[in-house]
Amino acid sequence: MNPTPLRILVHGASGRMGRALLRLAGERDGLRVVAAVSRSGEPLPEADATGVPVLAVADLSRAPDCDLVIDFSLPEAFDGVLADCVARGRALVSGTTGLSPAQREALDAAAARIPVLWAANFSAGVAVLHALVRQAAAALPGWDADIVESHHVHKKDAPSGTALFLGEAVAAGRGSAPHYAALRAGDIVGEHLVQLTGPGERLELAHRATNRDIFARGALEAALRLAGKGPGRYGFGELLLGGGTN
Ligand code: NAD
Repeated sequence: MNPTPLRILVHGASGRMGRALLRLAGERDGLRVVAAVSRSGEPLPEADATGVPVLAVADLSRAPDCDLVIDFSLPEAFDGVLADCVARGRALVSGTTGLSPAQREALDAAAARIPVLWAANFSAGVAVLHALVRQAAAALPGWDADIVESHHVHKKDAPSGTALFLGEAVAAGRGSAPHYAALRAGDIVGEHLVQLTGPGERLELAHRATNRDIFARGALEAALRLAGKGPGRYGFGELLLGGGTN
């Protein structure tokens, strides 16, 4: 066990992902959540259970010192947490999707100052799927390519960040982007189907997440692997599997 645990601030703590992170952080040796930040700063049972202070985002600058921020929030909250990480020299692991092109550029700029890992999806299965999709698209360049994604009704961005990430793999493989379709229904955690269709046959590559704990565990793993690294832009696939750049 690491004698000096990595001190983590969870940003977006009151959300579905933030609460999963607070609940699961205790499973991991080598890290300790020192603060939870949400829009309102209202108490959270998951934070109370472990004595973690909850702050409103307006009080972010007064949060206890930490080494790394894990952010699962919304695009409107993202600029503030990124600026805070750069100003204080904190590493950032973010899974917030729906970022604008300007926000993606700001991530690249921040990487000159701090270690940054942004990923559309923190599951090991999707990291592997990305490589498979690229290989399949390269082998079948003339086929139609479509990505169908399904998520719960509360998800705001569409197509999902993961669909776009898999779309990059399609484009890298065959030179052109796929078509996207997005479904919002019930409490679906996240499903992605990449379909390559040729004359008389169809290849389907699919990933289904049935529990969002996988994303929280993946982000905690990413935080531990990012610890101690120098400034730069890191990928989840690269850190987890030694390949890809998710
Ligand atoms: P949610 O809506 O349940 O929670 C959003 C959180 O952001 C809340 O804590 C809220 O207080 C905070 N927030 C919202 N606006 C804010 C503001 N202006 N300032 C400060 N904080 C603000 O969302 P969720 O389901 O937990 O998902 C969070 C993000 O993570 C989304 O972008 C989602 O698409 C993404 N996500 C990514 C992965 C992945 O593996 N990368 C997996 C699941 C979800």
